[in-house]
Amino acid sequence: MANTAIIIDGKAVSAKIREELKKETEQLNKKGIKPGLAVVIVGNDPASRTYVNNKKKGCAEVGIYSEEYALSEETTQEELLELVDKLNKKEDINGILVQLPLPKHIDDKAVIAKISPKKDVDAFHVENVGRIMLGEYKFLPCTPAGVMELLKAYDIDPAGKECVIIGRSNIVGKPMAMLLLHANGTVTVCHSKTKNLKEVTNRADILVSAIGKAKFVSADMVKEGAVVIDVGINRDENGKLCGDVDFETVKEKASYITPVPGGVGPMTITMLLKNTIEASK
Ligand code: NAD
Repeated sequence: MANTAIIIDGKAVSAKIREELKKETEQLNKKGIKPGLAVVIVGNDPASRTYVNNKKKGCAEVGIYSEEYALSEETTQEELLELVDKLNKKEDINGILVQLPLPKHIDDKAVIAKISPKKDVDAFHVENVGRIMLGEYKFLPCTPAGVMELLKAYDIDPAGKECVIIGRSNIVGKPMAMLLLHANGTVTVCHSKTKNLKEVTNRADILVSAIGKAKFVSADMVKEGAVVIDVGINRDENGKLCGDVDFETVKEKASYITPVPGGVGPMTITMLLKNTIEASK
């Protein structure tokens, strides 16, 4: 029998966490600690510009000091590495975020490697990635951490559940798998070479999609009553923002579902703010 899913409200959960973060910042300020984030953007990618603006806005909202370094498209790798080095040493900066993607002539791996692991609030540095693997986190990667917070907010415990992730990127899919595994889920990671994808996704009690293809996940890929988390940010045929999941049909089958926009998206920046505050302690 068809049911309609509970819509997971990422905006509301995010707003609640930001309020707590604001209080925490105020407490830290009283002790003379002022969390600070440096945001570095190279080039003129409009999507990156929007993300950077939202990150700065988020900082202001919770009382984090932020600095923006907007560099031209022609910036050399050496220049960028020098800036990161300077920010590593800058005392009023606790977190460094280099907005990806970088222009093609810059090796993003080299840049990430240069960021001090203590200031790596994106948790992309190999030291932090290793810590995630071991379950000894200092920082959690923002998007997967946001997903875990959403599950927590709705009392969805992954323990013992079949958790299926579509996508194996270093930013979302892989760390997502680790966090669900640490939360005692039984985890399967699918990707572009997975055979019988539908068969696997139909096992999922919790299905996380991080593919980047508009409305790819159709209702026949989802088990009745599954929790569906949509990380994707895409444009549909009319240029409208949408996720990886065909929301309208899947919501009739799922027990919980995140919308796009308003689901995982708002959580990502909130987790970045959380990491910056953590780094300042
Ligand atoms: P990516 O391109 O690095 O990875 C996509 C993954 O999808 C790959 O592992 C690939 O194997 C898999 N894939 C592609 N086609 C597939 C298919 N037909 N069947 C099964 N798997 C397939 O992308 P990413 O950086 O992980 O991002 C994924 C999506 O999430 C994008 O839409 C991105 O914009 C979005 N995203 C959202 C947030 C957020 O804050 N909400 C954060 C990061 C990324």
